[in-house]
Amino acid sequence: MNSPHWPSELLVAEDAANDPLALRVIERLGHLEPEIVSDHGDPLRLSKNKEPVGEQAERFTAGKKKLLLCRYKGEWMRACPGTSSHVCCNLWTVNPGEGCPLDCTYCYLQSYLKRNPTLKIYTNTEDLIEAISQRVNSEPSRYFRIGTGEVIDSLVWDDLTDSSLELVPFFSRLPNAVLELKTKTANISNLVSNEMLSQGSRVTSNTVVSWSVNALEINSKDERYTASFEQRLSAMEQVASAGYRVGLHFDPLIHFKGWEDAYSEAVRRIFSRLKDSDIAWISVSSLRYKPEMQEVMEERFPESSVPYGEQFLAKDGKMRYVQPLRLKMVNFVWNELKKVSKTLPVYMCMESSAAWRSINGGAPVAGEELKEVFARKARLKVLGDSDQRV
Ligand code: SF4
Repeated sequence: MNSPHWPSELLVAEDAANDPLALRVIERLGHLEPEIVSDHGDPLRLSKNKEPVGEQAERFTAGKKKLLLCRYKGEWMRACPGTSSHVCCNLWTVNPGEGCPLDCTYCYLQSYLKRNPTLKIYTNTEDLIEAISQRVNSEPSRYFRIGTGEVIDSLVWDDLTDSSLELVPFFSRLPNAVLELKTKTANISNLVSNEMLSQGSRVTSNTVVSWSVNALEINSKDERYTASFEQRLSAMEQVASAGYRVGLHFDPLIHFKGWEDAYSEAVRRIFSRLKDSDIAWISVSSLRYKPEMQEVMEERFPESSVPYGEQFLAKDGKMRYVQPLRLKMVNFVWNELKKVSKTLPVYMCMESSAAWRSINGGAPVAGEELKEVFARKARLKVLGDSDQRV
């Protein structure tokens, strides 16, 4: 097997070389000769303060072809930092690696990982599992929604690592946590495999498989190497029939001529294939990125119109569309979703309280359907819990 986004160079840190996950990846990338390295730093690390935008773009692109297998030695589990002066959806993050071989025009990793762009897969999965276990068990009355898709696509390497075969059954045994696997791939073969599903129907109970979705135009022009809209739909259908709940992230909404019809069509196509009861949650949010990323996007994607919209510097230090346009777009997609069903659990990711008031008519806990997303307490089935706060 081989995929267009797979790396052309494989590095393996000395102390990771015998980890089962490393051995599996080395075997499956058998056409590459692994280079054993003793230095733990990123081989493409930017050591000076600044560099011309052309070099920065080149280094980031080079990082997407270089994969380093190494052990992670930092803190595994963190509360999502959110963004200042915006409403936070209470997600915890755990990163099984760093960097993404797919290549979306608007990807924030172009600024976030600009100093360390080499792709990484962490091979000490047992430490990751132990860290989650300790944290979640230390607070049994708290509810943890944990995502693995913050600085890496959750499933992009799953056919090399088989990580989901460990994580999904592990989460099914946790009474107060749910795992969110967030992806733009259709890499679900492990999730729907006999090896997974023969473990019983409970195995899928605490995992939500989420897709970032966008207008078809954006999918085809600005999301290089990702699965097509149709491939994602087909993957959603398969995981839903295997018993998983599905998450959707309309993020980032992008303004272009004909955007209303395009997003309306995306919603229509999704719900011609999924039932509203298949859905765990849906987030909606508009384009945002750090100002420093503007030139890098222009350099790396000269054909794209994404960097040339009506963006301005917002209060949180990110480039965003002017507020009336941003609210119009979020409101439009929100209403399209609510036309499917009023009880669809739709929320806004990284939007201000003012946006919530304008679109939802109140705070995010207003609807019963959103309690899972904003829950702070365990015993999720007891959704009437009145002490859940935002
Ligand atoms: S799939 Fe996500 S992480 Fe990967 S390049 Fe696209 S936006 Fe970035």
